[in-house]
Amino acid sequence: MKILVSNDDGYLAKGINVLTEALDQVADVVVVAPDQERSGASSSLTLKDPLRVSEIAPNRYKVDGTPADCVHLALTGYLDYEPDLVISGINHGANLGDDVIYSGTVAAAMEGRFLGLPSIAVSLVGNNSMYFDTAAIILIKLILKIQQAPLDSDVVLNLNVPNVPISKLKGIKATRLGFRHKSEQILKDMDPYGRPIYWVGPAGEGQDAGEGTDFHAIEQGFASVTPLKVDLTRHSVINDLSDWLESV
Ligand code: MN
Repeated sequence: MKILVSNDDGYLAKGINVLTEALDQVADVVVVAPDQERSGASSSLTLKDPLRVSEIAPNRYKVDGTPADCVHLALTGYLDYEPDLVISGINHGANLGDDVIYSGTVAAAMEGRFLGLPSIAVSLVGNNSMYFDTAAIILIKLILKIQQAPLDSDVVLNLNVPNVPISKLKGIKATRLGFRHKSEQILKDMDPYGRPIYWVGPAGEGQDAGEGTDFHAIEQGFASVTPLKVDLTRHSVINDLSDWLESV
C-alpha cells in the first residue's frame, strides 16, 4: 500500500514524524508537507505564485505552500504514481466540530478525496500534546481495517484522539460533528511602532457537545471518527428554497 502523508503543522512537527515512523511499518510512505506551519489554511491553493518542492530525504518533500497545495501537487503530477491513501496529521490540537471548516489538516485529507480509498485526517486533542503514539496506534488499526474491508472512497474520516496513553483510551466511537460557541474576541495589541495589531482569538468551547458528537466522545475518553463529505449542499432546504424563489 502506498500512502501519501501531509499535515498543516509543517514537515518538522513532531506529529507528522511520529505518524511517518508508524506508517513506515505497514506501507510505502511518501511525505509531501508544508515547509512551515500552516494551521488554519483550510483548502486554500496558491494560484498566483509558483510552488517550490525540496527533497529533504528519499520520499520526503517539503513545499513552500499550503497543506492543500502539497496534496494537490503530489496527486496531479509531482508523483509519478497514484498513492492508495492520503493521511494528514498528526495535528497538534483538536479538529472538532466547526474546526474542520478552518483546518489545514482536514483540508489535506479532503484533497485526497479522488483516490480509491477514504482519506484520513488525524488530530491529537490538547494544547500540550504528548501522546502522539496513541493517535498513531489507532490510525494504524483503522488502516488495517480499511485494507480488510474498504469503506466508500468518497468518505473522509476525521479522527480525533484524546491525549492519553493507549492503556487509558476507552475505545473508538463513530460520531457526528458538534458545534462550537462563537470564538473568543480578537486580542488587540500594539506593534513596536505604535500601530495596532490584532490576534484572532481562540476557538469557542463546544456548544453542541451532546451524546453522539465528536466533542462528547473525546470528553468521555474515546477516540472519535467522524465521516465527512465535501458536498456542502443543505439538501433538506432545496424544496423550500424552490417555493420561495417562485415569487422572486
Ligand atoms: Mn495544525
